[in-house]
Amino acid sequence: MEAPPEPPTSVAIPVVPAQVPPVPAPAPVAVAPAAPAQVVPLPVVAPPAAPVTSVPVSVPYQGQYAPLPGYPWLVYPPPPYPPASAPPGPGIYGAPYPAYWPYPVPPPRPQVSRAARVTILALLIALAVSVVGVGGLTAYAAGTGAFGATSIWQDTAPKEPPPAENAPASAWADWARRSVDDAIKGQAQALVAGDQDAFTGVADPANATLVSDLKRRFGVLRAMGLGVWTEALTGGLKQSGTRSWSGDIKVNYCFGDKNCVAAQITEPSRWEVRNDQLVMVELGKSDSDQNGPRPWETDQLVVKRGSRAIVAATKTNEWRLDSAVAAADKAAAVADTFAKWSPAPNRYVIFLASPAEWTKWYGHEQPEWAAAWAVPVSDTVTEVVVRTEVVQQRGLENLLTHELTHVTSLAGKRLGAARSWWLIEGIAEFATMIDQQLASYDGLDQTHDFVHSSKWDGKPNVDPPSTRASLDEAAARYGVAFLSVRRIAERYGQDKMLAFWGKVVHDNTPLDDASQSALGASWATVSADCASYIRRSVG
Ligand SMILES: [Zn+2]
Repeated sequence: MEAPPEPPTSVAIPVVPAQVPPVPAPAPVAVAPAAPAQVVPLPVVAPPAAPVTSVPVSVPYQGQYAPLPGYPWLVYPPPPYPPASAPPGPGIYGAPYPAYWPYPVPPPRPQVSRAARVTILALLIALAVSVVGVGGLTAYAAGTGAFGATSIWQDTAPKEPPPAENAPASAWADWARRSVDDAIKGQAQALVAGDQDAFTGVADPANATLVSDLKRRFGVLRAMGLGVWTEALTGGLKQSGTRSWSGDIKVNYCFGDKNCVAAQITEPSRWEVRNDQLVMVELGKSDSDQNGPRPWETDQLVVKRGSRAIVAATKTNEWRLDSAVAAADKAAAVADTFAKWSPAPNRYVIFLASPAEWTKWYGHEQPEWAAAWAVPVSDTVTEVVVRTEVVQQRGLENLLTHELTHVTSLAGKRLGAARSWWLIEGIAEFATMIDQQLASYDGLDQTHDFVHSSKWDGKPNVDPPSTRASLDEAAARYGVAFLSVRRIAERYGQDKMLAFWGKVVHDNTPLDDASQSALGASWATVSADCASYIRRSVG
């Protein structure tokens, strides 16, 4: 579809003012409306047409949502912000995080005073959280979903009749189990084959709500382009009443071609006898312990597929899809180059979330300053969700370059991730700055102040920002992480930097061991060189 000019009339929220012109409609949600009393004061107004950028703000590094052991919260920094075309308006993030930083014009850029560069802040932080409770749900390789198009489940196929009314309960339970097994296997095959009637045919036809939701799900999943979809009972069936059973359905799915690597969720279901057949009467969603619900479980989505990315959104954000897919494909080309530990995904999967979906999808409440997060849904599969309320279209490519680099670089065992925040964020920032001069990096000023303060311990392997960190400090820590990774790549070459990165992040090799083997230098030497570079870079 043709994208309307930003912002669309459907955006009814006073989003970060740098992104969009003022929206006249009153805010219908619990964000600061354009009432003066609620306007968050901003330090300096960006000069007209001056590009601005967002920087990371204080970030809870330790999981608010019990992380999977061995996998921490990962906080993703923000993308550069497009030019501010409107004066600062209401801050939607609350008082603690009111500031913006300017987005420098591509290098070379004129020197401007630090004060002038402090403008408004778009609080764009993307987070990755652990997948809780799905440890061991590793990749399902090609073949898992290699359905033949021939095995279309037929709704009219003969079904095993139920036992006699007075048959033992065990006979009924066995029959129910076989019936559900057959039904969901056929349902999965029908989805892959594109047979909607068969897909919805497992449901009680009198249950209009369920039938309608299955039709919605069928349409969304088909539009996203399934490579793999399987269903199987897990944990058996439990009797939940007279001639009524419940059971969890394990779904393996991925998008792309048949070689895509599947993620897994389980959904509760309930089944009852209707006209001598066992039919589905309820289908639940995956819960937050599995980072559910997934967007396609809950919403009608519009989908746009690119060469490397699949982007889906509700109707509200449909206007964003064309340019979002273009940005995602470009970002994917960069992210692909960091797929050194697992193959790059068959397709990058990105969901654009409006405010309602932002609080719903993936089941975890996000910090109010979060702009996006990368959600690891298996050891090697990560999906990305973007909070469009605070992201302008022109900022998407940079944001997605950062996010998709997380997708590729983190795929694998990542045993050392919990102690490698600086490397994880550093490489994502590094990816966004390839072939760009250092002077164009946003946050240099904040890094300068941090480096010259007592807060920095002089180490390149900087700790993540704490929940209470100031915006400046958070930005600075990202800056130190970025400069460290960039320096290692400049000094030893990108291949050796990546080898070092993988040893630490994926293999959990101690820094000095990794440094010695990958870079041919002690960590003390590398660390000192990085620190010197950081000081020189920030002035
Ligand atoms: Zn990041």
